[in-house]
Amino acid sequence: MPRPISATIDLAALRHNLAMVRRHARRSRAFAVIKANGYGHGLERTARALREADGFALLEVDAAVRLREAGYRQRILLIEGFFDARELAAVIERRIAVVVHAAEQIGMLRDMPSGADLDVLLKVNTGMNRLGFAPARAPAVIEALRSNRGVGQITLMTHFANADDARGVAWQMASFERAAQGAGLPRSLANSAAILRFPETHCDWVRPGIMLYGCSPFAENVGAGLDLRPAMTLASELIAVQRLEAGDTVGYGGMFTARHDMRIGVVACGYADGYPRHAPNGTPVAVDGRLTGTVGRVSMDMLCVDLSGVPEAQVGSRVVIWGEGNPIEKVAAASGTVGYELMCALAPRVPVVERG
Ligand SMILES: *Cc1c(COP(=O)(O)O)cnc(C)c1O
Repeated sequence: MPRPISATIDLAALRHNLAMVRRHARRSRAFAVIKANGYGHGLERTARALREADGFALLEVDAAVRLREAGYRQRILLIEGFFDARELAAVIERRIAVVVHAAEQIGMLRDMPSGADLDVLLKVNTGMNRLGFAPARAPAVIEALRSNRGVGQITLMTHFANADDARGVAWQMASFERAAQGAGLPRSLANSAAILRFPETHCDWVRPGIMLYGCSPFAENVGAGLDLRPAMTLASELIAVQRLEAGDTVGYGGMFTARHDMRIGVVACGYADGYPRHAPNGTPVAVDGRLTGTVGRVSMDMLCVDLSGVPEAQVGSRVVIWGEGNPIEKVAAASGTVGYELMCALAPRVPVVERG
């Protein structure tokens, strides 16, 4: 028998979550954000499940070209634009849309053939301070793009820094408004948190990522609380059971000490599968459908779990590392990270099974 770990990707859950995007943002079109290998769910697989999306957004020109060649006709957006002028020929030929966020890119567009009809999303930096033009510069940049005969549609976009927390989006919306007013151009602003929380951000194109995968963008709830369904379930089995006596320790560094006699299970999953090594004792794990916690330090290929509350557990018992029955948000929170990072870190060595 192969090592028992696998990740199940639920295509029906992906479709359901896209339907939830539509329910929240009825009048907007949606770029399904499938960067980072579809947040770890597989690029082609995710695109196939979400083929009804109005567009796809990702980073690599090669991946965008592959989607085009696979027959996808909707908008495909390079969410950081092109990195090099040499990418432009393929982008134009395949009718791929690009984000333009820096003066260097405007320069590279100058030699484009007129009639290239390059679809551009002009990124305005409204406070994230990563990519984008200062709002005050936006009119001049819009003018430069409009006078470029190779440029087709122009859409204004920005990205929110605090859509998921108390600071919210109003401050960035005000800044965006200064850049966009009077331009009469379509707009794309909202990530998942803004889609769920701020209808005023929806505009023409929304850009859902994490919610498509069934994970909440908010610290205070899990996807199920937003009617989302987890698309990834990482599961494995117990491959050994140990009985500990009071005072025994577990694993490298002896990071867990038994306070009384107890049973622990050894799970075929470690940091080489994408499980966070820094997950502390008590990080949630479901064994035979019951929630318990990790004990001891996570090692490369194994982690250990407390079986005190799961007396029927034995070698071969099913273990949900995250996903259905053990929300990834809780595993992430216990480990000091977010569901995004755990999903993206799913290791290539983990076999993937599709469902739905
Ligand atoms: C990743 C990304 C998104 C999606 O964000 P989520 O929080 O996953 O919904 C939207 N817009 C841009 C520019 C992104 O880079």
